[in-house]
Amino acid sequence: MPLPQDGNNPIAWRIQQMNERVKQNKAQDLYFYLQPAEAVNGAHVTINGRDMLQFASYAYLDLLGHPKIQAAAQQALDEFGSGTHGVRILAGTTRIHVELEETIAQFKKAEAAIAFSSGYGTNLGVISALLGRNDIVFSDKLNHASIVDGCLLSRSKFVRFNHNDMNDLGRKLAKAPAKTGKLVVVDAVFSMDGDVINLPEVVRLCKQHEALLMVDEAHSVGVLGETGHGIMEHFGLDDGIDIHMGTLSKAIPAIGGYVAGDAELITYLKHTVRAFIFSAALPPPAAAAAKTSFEVIEAEPERIKILQRNVDYFISGLRKRGFNTMNSETPIVPIIVGDDERALLMAKFSQERDIFVLPVLSPAVPQGTSRLRANVTAGHTLDEIEYAMNVFEQAGKEVGLL
Ligand SMILES: *Cc1c(COP(=O)(O)O)cnc(C)c1O
Repeated sequence: MPLPQDGNNPIAWRIQQMNERVKQNKAQDLYFYLQPAEAVNGAHVTINGRDMLQFASYAYLDLLGHPKIQAAAQQALDEFGSGTHGVRILAGTTRIHVELEETIAQFKKAEAAIAFSSGYGTNLGVISALLGRNDIVFSDKLNHASIVDGCLLSRSKFVRFNHNDMNDLGRKLAKAPAKTGKLVVVDAVFSMDGDVINLPEVVRLCKQHEALLMVDEAHSVGVLGETGHGIMEHFGLDDGIDIHMGTLSKAIPAIGGYVAGDAELITYLKHTVRAFIFSAALPPPAAAAAKTSFEVIEAEPERIKILQRNVDYFISGLRKRGFNTMNSETPIVPIIVGDDERALLMAKFSQERDIFVLPVLSPAVPQGTSRLRANVTAGHTLDEIEYAMNVFEQAGKEVGLL
């Protein structure tokens, strides 16, 4: 596509600016994105012919390649092929999709569930299907981009409250006029900081102000709670969440998203969410892999124990070395660096020593909190975590952070 060179077209200008930035980073050998994996084996990944330790993936329970999940995907491929040639409400529903939804409902102790072909699309579609112009949505300031986009798409009044600040949420809920539709949306585990929402207080406020509550458990299912059932188990709650949203792409080695909840809610969503009605169904192998993953999580709770042991070891080890890991208590561990340049240099230093870790810079995170975002999983051994922490420590000293 030839671009006009006169600088009068802001769209063309935007494209050129981004290309300039990418070119500059590549020239300085500080471009880390889109590196193709040549092989993946547990916590090991081969990149550029080098065996590296993976600290950037969401393989929290090390389920990729699990024999039962692998076999389920293969059998679905043999039985139904690689796709469905259809959207769910028309030609796209197979027996496997129905079984997946039943399994999710059971896992989340809900009446019913609906599965979508993308987690991002789930938030976009569900939030915008629930809300109308006269409703109000209350969203934590650090909520995932897909939640923010869903709120914007809904065209309802969009109220953001300070991160995990229950006084602020309470104040804002109290200001909303009576008889307005109110929805509170929060991440269970925040995807950049790794901290956990104060769910008991959110539930209390929602009840007090008659607001519906939607919780995104992308980084919570398989991670939080003794047996990995998520944030309600973590806090020992039996109810309070109306819309249990989650993905099939983080702890679960597939793709897609879901909502679990009351049967009437799910019926409503099946007939209104545009991402469900106008987008093709999950491929049967992915649906089968996801279904079996929930069963494996139930059958092998020791994976969650190992994950939780590794999280404790990693976070306490980093803190002992003098790093600021914010309020993380999950496998998502921010190693705060401060400025972009040092974060980039620490990522380069770490990758040169075979640790695949990536920098997160502003504006993805607030200015001054640029970081390495390191994800630990059940697939890492304690020795591997120790090695990585030593590399991060050397990198921190190298750039003058420690
Ligand atoms: C990753 C993520 C999503 C989107 O899920 P995909 O399956 O990757 O589309 C939604 N919400 C949160 C909090 C996430 O981290």
